[in-house]
Amino acid sequence: MKKDCGFNTGLLHAGSQGFPQNEILPPVSQVSAFEYGSMEELECIFSHKKMGYAYSRIGNPTLTAFEDRINRLEGGIGAVSCSSGMSAITAAILNLCESGDEIIAGRGLYGGTIGLFHDLEKLGIHTIFADVLDSRTIESLANGRTRAVFGELISNPSLNVMDIAEAAEGAHKAGVPLIVDSTTATPYISTPISFGADIVIHSTSKYINGGGNSIGGIIVDGGKFSWDFDRHRSLSEFKKYGKMAFLVRLRTDIWENLGGCMAPMNAFLSFIGADTLGLRMERICENADALARALDLEEDITVNYLTLESHPYHGYVEKQLKGYGGGILNFRTGSRERAFRIINSLKYAMIASNIGDVRTLVIHPASTLYIRIDRSEMEAAGVYDDTVRVSVGIEDREDLIRDFVGAVRESRK
Ligand SMILES: *Cc1c(COP(=O)(O)O)cnc(C)c1O
Repeated sequence: MKKDCGFNTGLLHAGSQGFPQNEILPPVSQVSAFEYGSMEELECIFSHKKMGYAYSRIGNPTLTAFEDRINRLEGGIGAVSCSSGMSAITAAILNLCESGDEIIAGRGLYGGTIGLFHDLEKLGIHTIFADVLDSRTIESLANGRTRAVFGELISNPSLNVMDIAEAAEGAHKAGVPLIVDSTTATPYISTPISFGADIVIHSTSKYINGGGNSIGGIIVDGGKFSWDFDRHRSLSEFKKYGKMAFLVRLRTDIWENLGGCMAPMNAFLSFIGADTLGLRMERICENADALARALDLEEDITVNYLTLESHPYHGYVEKQLKGYGGGILNFRTGSRERAFRIINSLKYAMIASNIGDVRTLVIHPASTLYIRIDRSEMEAAGVYDDTVRVSVGIEDREDLIRDFVGAVRESRK
């Protein structure tokens, strides 16, 4: 990210992109493999003596362009794009953890992530959930088997905010990196590495793509963590790379072998989607704030949105989120039936299980995203039987307010 200009200018004019014909956008290298003139040349590529591409699961120029862009926005030393956000989380964890190792994770995580941590138990990787990721709690839960602290910056949908500096302090005292899923915050609202996080993950399917047209994920390495190779045994073969060890093992080993690469066309769509990330987030956050305030006036529903002064994490809006509250808001309606009635009568919001689209999306999480999650874990994630989740889009604010407030009032009759 250029330091001497604003977010959008830096995003759009990051210097020469170095595309082969000076294209203004990365060409879509929609190929599986790359041809070489001699066997010696291809040998050089495989032995990393020469930079180049061989096979698109291992690397592809369209992916590189997308990775460089997000890496710059987050201020990392390198990024690896993945087939999905879940694939990014899986690869990042498996890069650090072996059977017998432990992760400390925040509560209120994305349902898929909770599911993944359950799956990892069967591979011998144990997750300890912390009610808050503050320094003291992390220190009290950490032990010789701990390999990472994992949390969401703004949890989806509970809207708990992680104090990154606090969590980083606790993780670093315990000798492990802090991994932040920053999907709901986006690099426009916050750059976790600048607050002390070590690894940043995004589901690019959401705000970074923004158009709801491709699933993807990315892992960005901040490059500041000093790996202790006695503790992080999974990286010990990569010791010679020092601070790059996580990234090198990820790219040449775990990520490559898991086979969770991003498709070139998805990288292209997500690259062009990201062009408008700043514009969209500004509009989305303004809309969400206005909609939250309008709904908050309705006495029999309870609104959960970060910029509301009553929100327990309101203090973090200025401290870590540049004054924005993000694009997700929830409200409780009193009953599941009423939640369904409200959702079904909305004119503009689409009923869909996604967030981060330019279109406003709405869902009843308890009967969908959390259908396979224990009730106690679901409630810890801020989801109740009467919760409606809204992913606010870029529509005209007045229309959204009229639509939602009208549906809430109509549902009383
Ligand atoms: C959607 C989401 C994921 C998973 O990403 P996919 O691209 O759907 O695999 C992970 N974390 C958060 C916070 C999400 O919202």
